[in-house]
Amino acid sequence: CGIVGYIGKRDVAPLLLEGLQRLEYRGYDSAGIVITGKAAGKPGTLKMVKAKGRVRELEAKVPKRFAGTTGIAHTRWATHGAPSDENAHPHLDAENKVAVVHNGIIDNASELRTRLTADGVVFLSETDTEVLTHLIARAQADTLEEKVREALRHVEGTYGIAVLHADFNDRIVVARNGSPVVLGIGEKEMFVASDVAALVAHTRQVVTLDDGEMATLKADDFRTYTTEGSTTTATPTTVEWEA
Ligand code: GLU
Repeated sequence: CGIVGYIGKRDVAPLLLEGLQRLEYRGYDSAGIVITGKAAGKPGTLKMVKAKGRVRELEAKVPKRFAGTTGIAHTRWATHGAPSDENAHPHLDAENKVAVVHNGIIDNASELRTRLTADGVVFLSETDTEVLTHLIARAQADTLEEKVREALRHVEGTYGIAVLHADFNDRIVVARNGSPVVLGIGEKEMFVASDVAALVAHTRQVVTLDDGEMATLKADDFRTYTTEGSTTTATPTTVEWEA
């Protein structure tokens, strides 16, 4: 239902929770957040909290020490699998390296799930989304962008996704096909959301992705390209918004 992401210098959890609250008007049944922490000696550990119910309930479950400056978050409106803590997004792979939040519906999820299960993948949720997590984790490509592209090649349906990877913790990769994805361009910080409502408190400079488009967000830079890999031009526009 709703996506928010941030990469920059600020403490990410409060920013993401606030963004999720701004998306609450859309309706949802559960929420979750994942951040890349840099615990001593363990660069790029993913830390995740999920909760059925309101963003307030998610917030109550976030540990006191939940420091990080990169993260993605989600409010879910269940289509595949009942509302529950497990089915809430983000979804992680078995090694806790890849985290995905997703709006939309993967039409061929059950075929992909059958194929992945036969290959030894253990699913932790009933969602259609989780297939994407495992496809990205198993992709052979060297870069996160190519891993996501490789995974999306197997997928039919609609998506707005944001992806974090513990081994590529300087970036967030996003993609759009049928579900809105908007980038918010800040000063040495970048935002992503499914709806400008979650961004306008921080920046009015936005880039709206087209279907078939992807983007890489780094703290001080962003670029857009097609799911085939060719660069697209993205000139930020200024959104008008009555506070
Ligand atoms: N189809 C996904 C699920 O059921 C995403 C739903 C949404 O857009 O929130 O988990």
